[in-house]
Amino acid sequence: MTSGNHTIIDIGETVLCDLCNADYTDSEAEGGILMGTYAICPTCAPGIIRDAEPTGEPIVRCPAQTRFSECADAARGSDSRYATPR
Ligand SMILES: [Zn+2]
Repeated sequence: MTSGNHTIIDIGETVLCDLCNADYTDSEAEGGILMGTYAICPTCAPGIIRDAEPTGEPIVRCPAQTRFSECADAARGSDSRYATPR
């Protein structure tokens, strides 16, 4: 966030964990989960799964051998489309 420097941040390509805000954009880490509009990184995921499972909260686990960044990116892409009111 520097002013005077016109850095354009394309949020479509930046993948942050919605819990710990870790930047996974260039990370090769696999796993993680999606919960509603939240993307939870592989590090935070186990705790979230443990908390959410008894409540029946729908959790989408990122497929094996898929990077968290790809998984979260795909989810956001479809999310913003689905969330757009007609
Ligand atoms: Zn995290």
